[in-house]
Amino acid sequence: MKRFLFGPVNSRRLGRSLGIDLLPFKTCTLDCVYCECGWTTDQTLRRAELVPTHQVIAELDDYLAARPPLDYVTFSGAGEPTLHTGIGVVIGHLKRHYPHYPVAVLTNGTLLGDPEVQAQLAAADLVVPSLDGATPAAFRAICRPAAGLTVDAVIEGIAAFRRGFPGLLLLEVFLVPGQNDRPEELAALKQAATLIAPDAIQLNSLDRPAPHPGVAPPGDAALQRVRDFLYPLQVQAVRRRGPGELAPWDNPELFQEIAAVLARGPTSLPRLAVATGIRASDLAKTLAQMVRQSLVQCRHDRGEWCIAPMYDADSE
Ligand code: SF4
Repeated sequence: MKRFLFGPVNSRRLGRSLGIDLLPFKTCTLDCVYCECGWTTDQTLRRAELVPTHQVIAELDDYLAARPPLDYVTFSGAGEPTLHTGIGVVIGHLKRHYPHYPVAVLTNGTLLGDPEVQAQLAAADLVVPSLDGATPAAFRAICRPAAGLTVDAVIEGIAAFRRGFPGLLLLEVFLVPGQNDRPEELAALKQAATLIAPDAIQLNSLDRPAPHPGVAPPGDAALQRVRDFLYPLQVQAVRRRGPGELAPWDNPELFQEIAAVLARGPTSLPRLAVATGIRASDLAKTLAQMVRQSLVQCRHDRGEWCIAPMYDADSE
């Protein structure tokens, strides 16, 4: 069973991507209302060796020895990967021993102003920081940051990283209708993006249930309106799947495995992850599909997903 690696998944953005998760579930500087992993249980700005770096490297060596076909090796997972102080060591190891695999880092950007983080990510090929709110109100409402984190410092930090980073930098904006699509919010985002000067902006939006009931996906017309507003900045919309197109987590065998665990009774997302040996963030996507097909029901209770079979009388 892989502890720190997940996938490879067919990522909407990166193709066939092997994920590296450097964090205990769920450690982050933010607590975003749309987070697919549920609410942040350990919110912190303090960097540390959150899982043993040498064990991550050993698992990578074991997996990559067979030279699997991959488009990217990607740092992401259930939390903020730059909180791990060993991320630079792992990137360096990948670049030294497996230079044929491009390395991507998906980050919320909050620590990119730290010169140590900047140095540790310098060898990555692609860094994708997110910026969902460029005003204090939108940043607070969508990202619910750790105490002491300000949106101005985050924007300055991403811009400082951009100035010294030789690789590709895509700025991700997750659209939350009603929160960051008003003209004043879009104007602030445009100003911030102009300062940061990414290679492109990626517009992302919800395609699965969010833990917060007020979050919904924008329609195509709203997405186009935002693209028009941000012109002449280069904007890519993260492609949504076409009708009938299967996502990598739409896996009937996994559905059966989850159903077998739930036959023993309702459980939490972390416990289901342990029982199935699958990372919680991957499971969350699979469960979203199962909810749509009325195979399971999920409810958010005191910051944790509770998953139950459809017939369980104690669940909503
Ligand atoms: S930054 Fe990412 S992992 Fe952290 S709460 Fe937001 S969406 Fe979730």
